[in-house]
Amino acid sequence: MNLLLHMCCGPCSCYPVKKLRSDGIEPVGYFFNPNIHPYLEWDHRLKTAKEYADKVGLKIYTEEHYLLKDFLAKVMTIEEPDNPFLPRNRCRSCYAWRLDEAARFAAEQGFEAFTSTLFYSIHQQHEVMKEIAEACGKKYGIDFYYEDFRPGWQEGIDISLELGLYRQPYCGCIFSEEERFSKEIRKQRKKIGRAMKAERERMESLE
Ligand code: SF4
Repeated sequence: MNLLLHMCCGPCSCYPVKKLRSDGIEPVGYFFNPNIHPYLEWDHRLKTAKEYADKVGLKIYTEEHYLLKDFLAKVMTIEEPDNPFLPRNRCRSCYAWRLDEAARFAAEQGFEAFTSTLFYSIHQQHEVMKEIAEACGKKYGIDFYYEDFRPGWQEGIDISLELGLYRQPYCGCIFSEEERFSKEIRKQRKKIGRAMKAERERMESLE
């Protein structure tokens, strides 16, 4: 099968590429990630994706424009839930942009199908992305090749470490960077977590 694999980054590509190859599919990578900020981080992940591709002999296409302003224009008007444990609405928009572009590019380049390394992540909203990818496939008249790569999570980490790839400490956008490192947000999470736990216990005691 002639498959385009959208690559969210180098480390997340390790297991999907290995698995697809073991199934007899030689994917072609496509790096398109306007969700990665700031510039130096985006540049580092782009270089790491190329380094990975070079190390494992993977053909890749890369979109090399830093699109922070376009990303912000897409997500700044989106209302976010107050509870940091709830799925972020901006992520839906972020998945949709990347998967739409992957499907469009795959169709334009004559691939039979497309998929994404996003389906390897245990941190993303898997079912939401699946639904979006299916819709994008229909929109551009190209098959969405679905595979849940999450069972290979640890194996993918091990491969990336063996290859000496840079592993990023946060998802990508400037918001996720703040959520990862802000003491204030961590405190807020703990507080909400405690309140949710207390409420669960209260409900259980009523049963
Ligand atoms: S947290 Fe990750 S998936 Fe969500 S919007 Fe930011 S970069 Fe995209």
